[in-house]
Amino acid sequence: MQIYKVGGAVRDRLLGKPVTDIDWVVVGATTEEMLAQGFRPVGADFPVFLHPKTGEEYALARTERKSGRGYGGFTFHASPEVTLEEDLIRRDLTINAMAEDDGQNLTDPYNGQRDLEGRILRHVSPAFAEDPLRVLRVARFAARYAALGFTVAPETLELMRTLSESGELEALTAERSWKEISRALMEEQPQVFIQVLRDCGALKVLMPEVDALFGVPQPEAHHPEIDSGIHTLSVLEQSALHRQPLTVRWACLLHDLGKGLTPQEEWPRHIAHEHTGLKLIKAVNERFKAPKECQELALLVGQYHTHGHRALELKATTLLELLQSFDVYRRPQRFEEFIAACEMDARGRKGLEQRSYPQADYLRGAATVARSVAVQPLLEKGFKGPELGEALKRERLKALKAYKEAAAS
Ligand code: ATP
Ligand code: MG
Repeated sequence: MQIYKVGGAVRDRLLGKPVTDIDWVVVGATTEEMLAQGFRPVGADFPVFLHPKTGEEYALARTERKSGRGYGGFTFHASPEVTLEEDLIRRDLTINAMAEDDGQNLTDPYNGQRDLEGRILRHVSPAFAEDPLRVLRVARFAARYAALGFTVAPETLELMRTLSESGELEALTAERSWKEISRALMEEQPQVFIQVLRDCGALKVLMPEVDALFGVPQPEAHHPEIDSGIHTLSVLEQSALHRQPLTVRWACLLHDLGKGLTPQEEWPRHIAHEHTGLKLIKAVNERFKAPKECQELALLVGQYHTHGHRALELKATTLLELLQSFDVYRRPQRFEEFIAACEMDARGRKGLEQRSYPQADYLRGAATVARSVAVQPLLEKGFKGPELGEALKRERLKALKAYKEAAAS
């Protein structure tokens, strides 16, 4: 049997990037031979094994053929006769379809190296269209390598468009889609992921609520970039520049969905977009079965981000309600993430990226003040049950009023 490094490990070495996980392909072996060498079988779908010592993935060379809709509709053929070239042709991009033996000799039948040098993301063969997940993968690689100057080849974008219009994207499971989306959002330029999906018509299918933001104007005085879709991309860009976690990036992407619902005669104003957007945020959350923390934060940021921006003008009662809604007493981290998302929103405006955001410290301070109201003295005064809750609220309100006055003076 011959063993080759494939995919990301070869690509990233040639790009001079750190290689994290290594995928291997094995040519000329049977399952029985792999087991006899101590490899452990994984995954019911494909003949993939884990190395007994390193735990890295070794896949038998295979060919694939589409036999129906969706991911379930794949049949594969793995046998010792399948060649390296046959295995590489089923891969998504030319830059991912190179292999290397232990002497670093490159097998590159589909010109991956040429495309690496030309900074092109190009599909390997027409079989690309057999798995709609590849549309998301290409957009994710575009987000990852945008800084290096990579762009999607026009003929690949065309194929992605055909796939998007064919209805195949709808056959993707929430789990597979979310895995790509969440990884893409954590890339260096997540806004490029959304932009590429939009360019090929996939955004309209996957997240029509986000797609609908493009072409919707906002008041120029607050939003020099005017377009709500462009604004959303900028907010996402800021979230990556400021190294925000996935929860914050997800919330950034969805915070303004309500603006897509504003009747045209009300443009460029979006009076109650925080509320109208909630059902859309919920729909996107559920469509991709986003993790609970992502779902929660997106909804809270959607509902309260304008409160964040007006933090210094909020009445003490409103400030307290805001803190209660976030349950800052038990969930301090979530409130921090809310503040971060608000700040990214404020910075995601053309020409205002560097402007300071004093609301952040003000909100942090308010949370500290509310949190530091002690329960013990109230217990000693004999408050119990619902009355204790009321008394606690009164004390917190008093403390917030003092905080607000001190900040104003
Ligand atoms: P990463 O750095 O994100 O791990 P990678 O290229 O190694 O990038 P993997 O998802 O680990 O990506 O997949 C390994 C290889 O398997 C890819 O380089 C590609 O050749 C192939 N591959 C993975 N998923 C697909 C797919 N859906 N369609 C076609 N080829 C795929
Ligand atoms: Mg990999």
